[in-house]
Amino acid sequence: TNSASNNFIRQIIVEDLQEGRVDEIVTRFPPEPNGYLHIGHAKSICLNFGMAEEFKGRVNLRFDDTNPLKEDQEYVDAIKEDVEWLGFKWNELRFASDYFEEMYNRAVRLIQKGKAFVDDQSADQIRETRGTLTEPGKNSPYRERSIEENLDLFARMRAGEFGNGEKVLRAKIDMSSPNINLRDPVIYRIAHATHHNTGDTWCIYPMYAFAHPIEDAIEGITHSLCTTEFEDQRPFYDWVVQETEMENVPHQYEFGRLNMTNTVMSKRKLKLLVDEGVVDGWDDPRMPTVSGLRRRGFTPESIRSFIRELGVSKSSGTVDSKYLDHFLREDLKLKAPRTMGVLKPLKVVITNYPEGQVEWLDAEINPENPEMGTRQIPFSREIYIEQDDFMEEPPKKYFRLFPGNEVRLKHAYFIKCNDFVKDENGNVVEVHCTYDVETKSGSGFTGRKVKGTLHWVDATHAVPAEFRLYEPLVLDEAEDGEGEFLDHLNPSSLIVEQGFIEPNMKDVKPHDKFQFFRHGYFNVDPKHTTEDHIVFNLIASLKSSFEL
Ligand code: ATP
Ligand code: MG
Ligand code: MG
Repeated sequence: TNSASNNFIRQIIVEDLQEGRVDEIVTRFPPEPNGYLHIGHAKSICLNFGMAEEFKGRVNLRFDDTNPLKEDQEYVDAIKEDVEWLGFKWNELRFASDYFEEMYNRAVRLIQKGKAFVDDQSADQIRETRGTLTEPGKNSPYRERSIEENLDLFARMRAGEFGNGEKVLRAKIDMSSPNINLRDPVIYRIAHATHHNTGDTWCIYPMYAFAHPIEDAIEGITHSLCTTEFEDQRPFYDWVVQETEMENVPHQYEFGRLNMTNTVMSKRKLKLLVDEGVVDGWDDPRMPTVSGLRRRGFTPESIRSFIRELGVSKSSGTVDSKYLDHFLREDLKLKAPRTMGVLKPLKVVITNYPEGQVEWLDAEINPENPEMGTRQIPFSREIYIEQDDFMEEPPKKYFRLFPGNEVRLKHAYFIKCNDFVKDENGNVVEVHCTYDVETKSGSGFTGRKVKGTLHWVDATHAVPAEFRLYEPLVLDEAEDGEGEFLDHLNPSSLIVEQGFIEPNMKDVKPHDKFQFFRHGYFNVDPKHTTEDHIVFNLIASLKSSFEL
């Protein structure tokens, strides 16, 4: 696809600018601080910040914090960090809660115009009288309260005279509208709760559908971009802007949300995984959160390219979660040093190599980017290879080590297997080989060919390392019921191996990224790595069909 033309929002903006409907575009990214951002939010971030950047407009980071019960400063801080890490800068940082007074005044204006009323019905009664798609709703018995009575009751709601749920303020529109969102929607509710920003100043809070258009109008947002679930809310959005007499008139446009296979994409469910201890936090490398992807080792560039390539349309298709790996490989191909690591070690003794001798071999750091130079790797009589790279009785087309077979050791020599040692349980614990000094890598040896090339690490110099291998957290996301996805967790979403790495790797730092030969891309885990314990997270395997 051509990423310049795969975004219908861009077309709308281009036309709005060309035809002078707006002089400058202003967008906002409006997260509710009730959880950490996930890759779905990254789509919205890339769109809102990306359009502002491209058309030299402005973009606000606005916390949509109108529900005190679920919001927290921890989430505010995490969201700011994630947006910045993705590489974006906001023009202004705003909080919806800073506009509570203004929202209250606009609600009062609605009452004064006879367009809002205080309802004493319970939430259940309101739901039951709302009607259905085929049946109109019923007017509330409190719908015809006088303006004076409504003004008085609303002021007393604010003053804290009533308990939670005793009263609400509703817009007075049309209980028989075909759009259920216009059937006298609730716009204020009572919640005696401490708010992370306004403390105990308020005990009434505006509903999202009422608050959002006012927030957009206050900030002069021109293009209010949201996902398609809000399409049916657009008439109410426009109603609020008009009836509360906002000076700026923002417009809402809906785009398709991002869904990915084997991926839970809802803050509520992700919070459940954290609260139930299924994962070790919001930033667990298996989480589709921005912080989880960062800890796993994904780069901002890879996430941005992924989202750019998917484009923006009205439909919300489901993307194969493996597709993101492609962009990570593209990003790191030329940047990440290549190295060798053995995840499940098996000792190999090279019986004709002199005892006590060590030679240091030259190895390119990245053959696709020669400017990165070379590294030195030791070679001696004892090395480690992968357990899976040796078989006593190999199947057909197994080109690795087995009795009588010869393979190439990457950057070193050909070795030939002559013998092996088993423990009392019948497991192979040591393989005996001989090497051919003529076959040294780089010597131009052409005497004979071998089909297999193995990675390895010199045993006497090897540095221990832990490798954490990941698979999707959920087997599928078909179930949508409360908590049910917890029954579909992948039991092998995390596999931990204790292996070895090259000695030149001993001083790696958190977030250093490498391509391990034949394994894939790994990131040094920032949470579990210590001075003497290096932990690598598998970011993405290599695309090759190679399988251990
Ligand atoms: P969730 O449903 O995961 O809890 P949310 O929509 O409640 O997310 P908000 O904090 O309200 O979370 O989202 C902020 C912005 O991110 C909204 O404009 C929302 O439309 C957008 N967004 C959320 N999820 C996705 C997604 N999967 N794809 C694209 N945009 C999304
Ligand atoms: Mg939301
Ligand atoms: Mg939500």
